[in-house]
Amino acid sequence: MSDVKVNNFKATCDQFERASEKLGLESNLAQSLMMPDRELAVEVPLNRDDGSLSIFQGYRIQHNDARGPFKGGIRYHQEVDLDEVRSLAALMTYKTAVVDIPYGGGKGGITVDPRKLSKREIEQLSRRFFRRISPVIGINKDIPAPDVNTNAQIMAWFMDEYSQNEGHSPGIVTGKPIELGGSLGRESATGRGVFFTIREAANEFGINLSKATAVIQGFGNVGSFAAKFLHESECKVIAVSDVTGGLHEPGGLDIPSLIDHVKEHGVIEKSGQGESISNEDILSLDCDFLIPAALGGVIHKMNAENLNCRFVIEAANGPTTPPGDEILFSKSIPVIPDILTNAGGVTVSYFEWVQNLQQFRWEEDEVNSKLEAKMTSAYKEVTTLRKEKNVSFRTAAFMVGIDRVARSVELRGF
Ligand code: NAD
Repeated sequence: MSDVKVNNFKATCDQFERASEKLGLESNLAQSLMMPDRELAVEVPLNRDDGSLSIFQGYRIQHNDARGPFKGGIRYHQEVDLDEVRSLAALMTYKTAVVDIPYGGGKGGITVDPRKLSKREIEQLSRRFFRRISPVIGINKDIPAPDVNTNAQIMAWFMDEYSQNEGHSPGIVTGKPIELGGSLGRESATGRGVFFTIREAANEFGINLSKATAVIQGFGNVGSFAAKFLHESECKVIAVSDVTGGLHEPGGLDIPSLIDHVKEHGVIEKSGQGESISNEDILSLDCDFLIPAALGGVIHKMNAENLNCRFVIEAANGPTTPPGDEILFSKSIPVIPDILTNAGGVTVSYFEWVQNLQQFRWEEDEVNSKLEAKMTSAYKEVTTLRKEKNVSFRTAAFMVGIDRVARSVELRGF
């Protein structure tokens, strides 16, 4: 293992243990809350367009369902493995508990580079994968959603597979197309939630957003919507990056026109804005809010010392490794963790499911204001505990989540 790479599940266990010790959780209960309830590994065969056969590896990890059905996305990526999916499933259990929605945590994925498949192949792979995991999936059992490299179309194919046997069942997945029961406001929900988190932190720490600066790594769904809402609140977004590299403009980037550029070209490259900057250098820019919104593990023991921000806002899942976290703690840079910051996505997924169960659609304003209420109260609960126990944002968020899950497990019994 290199200097910067860490074992994902072990990193999540370390974060969990720190919080469970503070809560004084009995050790067998803590052990049971950390380990997944069920792990399903499946083989996914695919007839390729050229007539050959390929075999892919898929997973669905069901971490904990004490508070509600397992809930979590399905990721298609060449680096998906059991360790990563386990870690992401555990984070979902505590994320859904932090925002207090009646779900547990799960995650799934296929080890595949979808850029190397045709649209027909992706559809076949998705349908076959869903059939293989379907014995453990259900509207009150486990509700998948999109994650990296999966989208509303893939959710529509999953829903179609399920509905063929069970009748019209939009509530089996979230993140669907609007036409099939997707929720208004779901597309922007994670970025909007990131913005609410920053706004609460700014209020708490006496920062005037209209005089503040932000740097965002990743300009996809989460990064671009976070940038949009920050820009609208007059916070200067001085740098952003994506897979093609970064742009730096100390006076503030023109975010609406950058979003238009990305809609047209797919990437921020050649937008004509700012000076170019690397994905590594962008992390050490002087700013108020550094927002990793792309990959896991980007802030680590080899670069954390170089950061010059006032806060790290974890919009991506797992962007800070535990050694990176320790360095930031010693530099007094607060890290607002993924299980709070990016919980807006699963919160509106929950609203989508509720609308599907009610067979009723809410207006977008209603969705957004309910999301605002959830994110604001989660921030306040984490902050109250953080101050009371004198712990980091991450430990406090885990404590809020673990306490809720532990109480449900104890009430239900083993
Ligand atoms: P996305 O695919 O829409 O966007 C990803 C962005 O990261 C793109 O701009 C891409 O160019 C960029 N990127 C890829 N490789 C990069 C690299 N090496 N360096 C810099 N940038 C790179 O994905 P997303 O939905 O915005 O998700 C981003 C992160 O947020 C992921 O960690 C995801 O798990 C997490 N997340 C997403 C949601 C959601 O609702 N979309 C919810 C919770 C958490």
